[in-house]
Amino acid sequence: MSQVRGRFAPSPTGRMHLGNIRSALLGWLQARAAHGRFLLRIEDLDRARCKPQYVDDLLRDMEWLGLDWDEQPVFQSQRDGLYRDAQARLEQAGRVYPCFCTRAEIARAASAPHGLSDEGPRYPGTCAHLTREQISERARTRPPAYRFRAVPGEVRFVDGLQGSYSQDVDAVVGDFVVRRNDGVASYQLAVVVDDAATDITHVLRGDDLLSSTPRQLQLYAALSLRAPDFLHVPLVLGEDGKRLAKREGAFALAELRERGVAPERVLGLLASWSGWGDGGPLTLAELVHSFRPERLPRTPIVAGEAALREA
Ligand code: GLU
Repeated sequence: MSQVRGRFAPSPTGRMHLGNIRSALLGWLQARAAHGRFLLRIEDLDRARCKPQYVDDLLRDMEWLGLDWDEQPVFQSQRDGLYRDAQARLEQAGRVYPCFCTRAEIARAASAPHGLSDEGPRYPGTCAHLTREQISERARTRPPAYRFRAVPGEVRFVDGLQGSYSQDVDAVVGDFVVRRNDGVASYQLAVVVDDAATDITHVLRGDDLLSSTPRQLQLYAALSLRAPDFLHVPLVLGEDGKRLAKREGAFALAELRERGVAPERVLGLLASWSGWGDGGPLTLAELVHSFRPERLPRTPIVAGEAALREA
Protein backbone atom coordinates (compact mmCIF):
# COMPACT_ATOMS: atom_id res chain seq x y z
CA MET A 1 0.00 0.00 0.00
CA SER A 2 1.23 3.51 -0.75
CA GLN A 3 2.18 5.77 2.12
CA VAL A 4 -0.58 7.70 3.89
CA ARG A 5 -0.25 11.46 3.41
CA GLY A 6 -2.58 13.63 5.44
CA ARG A 7 -2.75 17.37 5.95
CA PHE A 8 -4.15 20.17 8.04
CA ALA A 9 -5.29 23.17 6.00
CA PRO A 10 -6.32 26.01 8.29
CA SER A 11 -7.42 29.46 7.17
CA PRO A 12 -5.56 31.98 9.36
CA THR A 13 -8.53 34.28 9.94
CA GLY A 14 -8.35 34.22 13.73
CA ARG A 15 -6.68 32.50 16.65
CA MET A 16 -7.21 28.75 16.59
CA HIS A 17 -10.17 27.59 18.61
CA LEU A 18 -10.72 24.15 20.01
CA GLY A 19 -12.63 22.97 16.95
CA ASN A 20 -9.73 23.82 14.62
CA ILE A 21 -7.16 22.16 16.79
CA ARG A 22 -9.31 19.08 17.14
CA SER A 23 -9.29 18.68 13.33
CA ALA A 24 -5.52 19.16 13.36
CA LEU A 25 -5.13 16.55 16.10
CA LEU A 26 -7.33 13.95 14.39
CA GLY A 27 -5.61 14.48 11.02
CA TRP A 28 -2.22 14.18 12.69
CA LEU A 29 -3.29 10.99 14.49
CA GLN A 30 -4.65 9.47 11.29
CA ALA A 31 -1.33 10.07 9.50
CA ARG A 32 0.93 9.10 12.38
CA ALA A 33 -1.06 5.99 13.33
CA ALA A 34 -0.42 4.80 9.76
CA HIS A 35 3.28 5.81 9.90
CA GLY A 36 2.47 8.33 7.22
CA ARG A 37 3.36 11.95 6.51
CA PHE A 38 1.46 14.96 7.77
CA LEU A 39 1.56 18.26 5.88
CA LEU A 40 0.54 21.76 6.77
CA ARG A 41 -1.06 24.10 4.26
CA ILE A 42 -2.03 27.64 5.09
CA GLU A 43 -5.20 28.57 3.21
CA ASP A 44 -4.62 32.31 3.02
CA LEU A 45 -6.30 33.18 -0.26
CA ASP A 46 -8.66 35.63 1.37
CA ARG A 47 -6.14 38.43 1.85
CA ALA A 48 -8.60 40.70 3.61
CA ARG A 49 -9.37 38.20 6.39
CA CYS A 50 -6.05 36.33 6.80
CA LYS A 51 -3.29 37.79 8.99
CA PRO A 52 0.38 36.72 9.39
CA GLN A 53 -0.06 37.03 13.16
CA TYR A 54 -2.61 34.21 13.06
CA VAL A 55 -0.18 32.03 11.09
CA ASP A 56 2.51 32.53 13.76
CA ASP A 57 -0.04 31.75 16.44
CA LEU A 58 -1.21 28.55 14.84
CA LEU A 59 2.32 27.28 14.21
CA ARG A 60 3.06 27.88 17.86
CA ASP A 61 -0.14 26.17 18.99
CA MET A 62 0.72 23.10 16.95
CA GLU A 63 4.30 22.95 18.18
CA TRP A 64 3.09 23.36 21.73
CA LEU A 65 0.82 20.33 21.43
CA GLY A 66 3.53 18.35 19.63
CA LEU A 67 1.64 18.17 16.32
CA ASP A 68 4.64 18.18 14.04
CA TRP A 69 4.53 18.29 10.25
CA ASP A 70 6.71 17.05 7.43
CA GLU A 71 8.05 19.15 4.55
CA GLN A 72 7.73 22.91 4.24
CA PRO A 73 4.33 24.39 5.02
CA VAL A 74 2.60 25.50 1.83
CA PHE A 75 0.93 28.92 1.51
CA GLN A 76 -1.91 29.16 -0.97
CA SER A 77 -1.24 32.87 -1.49
CA GLN A 78 2.02 31.87 -3.23
CA ARG A 79 0.56 29.26 -5.55
CA ASP A 80 -1.67 31.11 -7.96
CA GLY A 81 0.41 29.88 -10.92
CA LEU A 82 -0.71 26.32 -10.19
CA TYR A 83 -4.35 27.35 -9.92
CA ARG A 84 -4.09 29.29 -13.19
CA ASP A 85 -2.58 26.26 -14.97
CA ALA A 86 -5.42 24.07 -13.77
CA GLN A 87 -7.98 26.67 -14.82
CA ALA A 88 -6.35 26.93 -18.26
CA ARG A 89 -6.66 23.16 -18.69
CA LEU A 90 -10.34 23.34 -17.77
CA GLU A 91 -10.84 26.24 -20.16
CA GLN A 92 -9.18 24.37 -23.02
CA ALA A 93 -11.57 21.51 -22.41
CA GLY A 94 -14.53 23.90 -22.50
CA ARG A 95 -15.35 23.21 -18.85
CA VAL A 96 -15.09 26.79 -17.56
CA TYR A 97 -16.74 30.03 -18.67
CA PRO A 98 -16.69 33.69 -17.58
CA CYS A 99 -19.64 34.88 -15.51
CA PHE A 100 -20.56 38.52 -15.08
CA CYS A 101 -23.50 38.11 -12.70
CA THR A 102 -23.65 39.94 -9.39
CA ARG A 103 -24.93 38.20 -6.28
CA ALA A 104 -28.15 40.16 -6.47
CA GLU A 105 -28.70 39.12 -10.10
CA ILE A 106 -28.15 35.48 -9.21
CA ALA A 107 -30.59 35.69 -6.30
CA ARG A 108 -33.22 37.26 -8.58
CA ALA A 109 -32.73 34.77 -11.41
CA ALA A 110 -32.58 31.67 -9.23
CA SER A 111 -35.93 30.00 -9.00
CA ALA A 112 -37.66 27.02 -7.40
CA PRO A 113 -37.70 24.01 -7.38
CA HIS A 114 -33.97 24.09 -6.66
CA GLY A 115 -33.09 24.56 -3.02
CA LEU A 116 -30.36 26.54 -1.40
CA SER A 117 -26.88 25.14 -1.22
CA ASP A 118 -24.32 26.23 1.35
CA GLU A 119 -23.25 28.84 -1.18
CA GLY A 120 -26.70 30.35 -1.59
CA PRO A 121 -29.11 29.87 -4.45
CA ARG A 122 -28.29 27.50 -7.27
CA TYR A 123 -26.55 29.35 -10.10
CA PRO A 124 -29.16 29.42 -12.84
CA GLY A 125 -26.67 29.37 -15.73
CA THR A 126 -27.24 32.93 -16.88
CA CYS A 127 -23.76 33.30 -18.46
CA ALA A 128 -23.32 29.67 -19.51
CA HIS A 129 -23.82 30.28 -23.22
CA LEU A 130 -22.64 33.82 -23.93
CA THR A 131 -21.25 34.51 -27.40
CA ARG A 132 -17.73 35.91 -27.86
CA GLU A 133 -19.24 39.31 -28.60
CA GLN A 134 -21.36 39.27 -25.46
CA ILE A 135 -18.31 38.32 -23.41
CA SER A 136 -16.17 41.17 -24.72
CA GLU A 137 -19.06 43.57 -24.36
CA ARG A 138 -19.62 42.64 -20.71
CA ALA A 139 -15.92 42.49 -19.89
CA ARG A 140 -15.83 46.23 -20.55
CA THR A 141 -18.05 46.92 -17.57
CA ARG A 142 -16.66 44.52 -14.99
CA PRO A 143 -14.18 41.66 -14.55
CA PRO A 144 -15.73 38.20 -14.69
CA ALA A 145 -15.70 35.33 -12.24
CA TYR A 146 -15.08 31.92 -13.83
CA ARG A 147 -17.43 29.00 -13.35
CA PHE A 148 -17.01 25.27 -13.83
CA ARG A 149 -19.79 23.59 -15.80
CA ALA A 150 -21.27 21.21 -13.25
CA VAL A 151 -21.86 17.71 -14.58
CA PRO A 152 -25.49 16.57 -14.08
CA GLY A 153 -26.16 13.41 -12.07
CA GLU A 154 -25.41 12.17 -8.57
CA VAL A 155 -21.81 12.30 -7.37
CA ARG A 156 -21.45 9.57 -4.78
CA PHE A 157 -18.57 8.74 -2.49
CA VAL A 158 -18.01 6.79 0.69
CA ASP A 159 -16.86 8.94 3.58
CA GLY A 160 -14.59 7.29 6.13
CA LEU A 161 -16.95 8.21 8.96
CA GLN A 162 -20.29 9.30 7.49
CA GLY A 163 -20.61 6.43 5.01
CA SER A 164 -22.18 6.88 1.60
CA TYR A 165 -22.91 10.49 0.62
CA SER A 166 -24.20 11.78 -2.67
CA GLN A 167 -25.21 15.05 -4.23
CA ASP A 168 -26.34 16.15 -7.67
CA VAL A 169 -24.01 19.14 -7.94
CA ASP A 170 -25.74 20.49 -11.01
CA ALA A 171 -29.18 20.39 -9.36
CA VAL A 172 -28.13 21.73 -5.96
CA VAL A 173 -25.28 24.16 -6.62
CA GLY A 174 -25.18 24.56 -10.38
CA ASP A 175 -22.06 25.76 -12.20
CA PHE A 176 -19.68 26.82 -9.47
CA VAL A 177 -16.94 29.40 -9.14
CA VAL A 178 -13.30 28.44 -9.70
CA ARG A 179 -12.04 32.02 -9.79
CA ARG A 180 -13.75 34.93 -8.14
CA ASN A 181 -14.23 38.23 -9.91
CA ASP A 182 -11.57 39.82 -7.69
CA GLY A 183 -9.06 37.51 -9.41
CA VAL A 184 -8.59 35.07 -6.52
CA ALA A 185 -8.86 31.31 -7.06
CA SER A 186 -11.83 29.77 -5.26
CA TYR A 187 -11.44 27.45 -2.31
CA GLN A 188 -12.88 24.56 -4.38
CA LEU A 189 -10.24 24.84 -7.10
CA ALA A 190 -7.30 25.59 -4.80
CA VAL A 191 -8.02 22.72 -2.41
CA VAL A 192 -8.17 20.19 -5.25
CA VAL A 193 -5.05 21.47 -7.00
CA ASP A 194 -3.08 21.56 -3.75
CA ASP A 195 -4.18 18.23 -2.34
CA ALA A 196 -3.30 16.62 -5.69
CA ALA A 197 0.02 18.50 -6.05
CA THR A 198 1.14 17.41 -2.59
CA ASP A 199 -0.03 13.80 -3.12
CA ILE A 200 -2.48 13.87 -0.24
CA THR A 201 -4.09 10.44 0.15
CA HIS A 202 -6.34 11.19 3.17
CA VAL A 203 -8.34 14.33 3.86
CA LEU A 204 -9.75 14.63 7.37
CA ARG A 205 -11.72 17.82 8.03
CA GLY A 206 -14.90 19.25 9.56
CA ASP A 207 -18.20 18.02 8.19
CA ASP A 208 -19.20 21.55 7.21
CA LEU A 209 -17.19 20.66 4.08
CA LEU A 210 -18.99 17.37 3.38
CA SER A 211 -21.29 19.07 0.88
CA SER A 212 -18.30 20.67 -0.92
CA THR A 213 -16.75 17.28 -1.60
CA PRO A 214 -18.93 16.37 -4.63
CA ARG A 215 -17.84 19.64 -6.31
CA GLN A 216 -14.25 18.79 -5.57
CA LEU A 217 -14.72 15.28 -6.96
CA GLN A 218 -16.00 16.80 -10.21
CA LEU A 219 -12.85 18.92 -10.42
CA TYR A 220 -10.62 15.91 -9.73
CA ALA A 221 -12.34 14.05 -12.56
CA ALA A 222 -12.19 17.00 -14.97
CA LEU A 223 -8.47 17.50 -14.28
CA SER A 224 -7.77 13.73 -14.46
CA LEU A 225 -6.42 13.80 -10.92
CA ARG A 226 -6.76 11.06 -8.35
CA ALA A 227 -9.05 12.00 -5.46
CA PRO A 228 -8.01 11.24 -1.88
CA ASP A 229 -10.09 9.36 0.69
CA PHE A 230 -12.29 11.66 2.77
CA LEU A 231 -13.24 11.55 6.42
CA HIS A 232 -15.49 14.33 7.70
CA VAL A 233 -15.68 14.78 11.45
CA PRO A 234 -18.64 16.41 13.20
CA LEU A 235 -18.17 19.99 14.22
CA VAL A 236 -17.42 21.06 17.73
CA LEU A 237 -20.14 23.22 19.25
CA GLY A 238 -19.90 25.56 22.19
CA GLU A 239 -22.01 24.98 25.28
CA ASP A 240 -24.56 27.35 23.75
CA GLY A 241 -24.98 24.95 20.80
CA LYS A 242 -23.34 27.29 18.27
CA ARG A 243 -20.41 26.32 16.09
CA LEU A 244 -17.19 27.42 17.72
CA ALA A 245 -15.97 28.78 14.40
CA LYS A 246 -18.93 31.09 14.08
CA ARG A 247 -19.03 32.30 17.62
CA GLU A 248 -17.80 35.57 18.87
CA GLY A 249 -14.96 35.21 21.32
CA ALA A 250 -14.52 31.44 20.95
CA PHE A 251 -12.01 30.33 23.47
CA ALA A 252 -8.55 30.48 21.85
CA LEU A 253 -6.09 27.68 22.34
CA ALA A 254 -3.32 30.26 22.65
CA GLU A 255 -4.86 31.39 25.93
CA LEU A 256 -4.17 27.98 27.43
CA ARG A 257 -0.65 27.96 26.01
CA GLU A 258 0.06 31.39 27.42
CA ARG A 259 -1.40 30.42 30.76
CA GLY A 260 1.04 27.50 31.00
CA VAL A 261 -1.58 24.73 30.97
CA ALA A 262 0.01 21.32 30.29
CA PRO A 263 -0.51 20.21 26.67
CA GLU A 264 -1.42 16.70 27.86
CA ARG A 265 -4.36 18.18 29.71
CA VAL A 266 -5.65 19.77 26.50
CA LEU A 267 -5.02 16.60 24.50
CA GLY A 268 -6.94 14.54 27.07
CA LEU A 269 -9.93 16.85 26.89
CA LEU A 270 -9.90 17.02 23.07
CA ALA A 271 -9.79 13.22 22.97
CA SER A 272 -12.66 12.89 25.43
CA TRP A 273 -14.84 15.04 23.14
CA SER A 274 -14.06 12.63 20.34
CA GLY A 275 -15.22 9.66 22.36
CA TRP A 276 -12.13 8.34 24.07
CA GLY A 277 -10.44 8.71 27.42
CA ASP A 278 -12.09 10.08 30.55
CA GLY A 279 -10.88 13.65 30.13
CA GLY A 280 -7.71 13.13 32.15
CA PRO A 281 -4.29 14.06 30.67
CA LEU A 282 -3.08 11.99 27.72
CA THR A 283 0.10 12.06 25.67
CA LEU A 284 0.27 12.00 21.88
CA ALA A 285 1.96 8.60 22.06
CA GLU A 286 -1.03 7.22 24.00
CA LEU A 287 -3.45 8.76 21.54
CA VAL A 288 -1.65 7.42 18.46
CA HIS A 289 -1.71 3.99 20.01
CA SER A 290 -5.46 3.99 20.61
CA PHE A 291 -6.66 5.95 17.56
CA ARG A 292 -9.62 4.25 15.85
CA PRO A 293 -11.12 6.61 13.26
CA GLU A 294 -14.23 4.46 12.78
CA ARG A 295 -15.12 4.98 16.44
CA LEU A 296 -15.28 8.76 16.23
CA PRO A 297 -18.72 10.20 17.01
CA ARG A 298 -20.98 10.97 14.05
CA THR A 299 -23.03 13.73 15.63
CA PRO A 300 -21.92 17.23 16.70
CA ILE A 301 -19.83 17.39 19.81
CA VAL A 302 -20.43 19.87 22.55
CA ALA A 303 -17.11 21.07 23.86
CA GLY A 304 -16.78 21.38 27.59
CA GLU A 305 -15.01 24.69 27.31
CA ALA A 306 -15.67 25.42 30.94
CA ALA A 307 -13.33 22.55 31.85
CA LEU A 308 -10.60 24.31 29.91
CA ARG A 309 -11.28 27.72 31.30
CA GLU A 310 -10.68 26.22 34.69
CA ALA A 311 -7.69 24.16 33.57
N1 GLU B 1 -9.30 26.01 5.07
C1 GLU B 1 -10.51 25.30 5.39
C2 GLU B 1 -10.97 25.72 6.77
O1 GLU B 1 -10.17 26.20 7.56
C3 GLU B 1 -10.33 23.80 5.39
C4 GLU B 1 -10.20 23.27 4.04
C5 GLU B 1 -10.10 21.77 3.93
O2 GLU B 1 -9.70 21.11 4.90
O3 GLU B 1 -10.39 21.26 2.85
O4 GLU B 1 -12.14 25.57 7.05
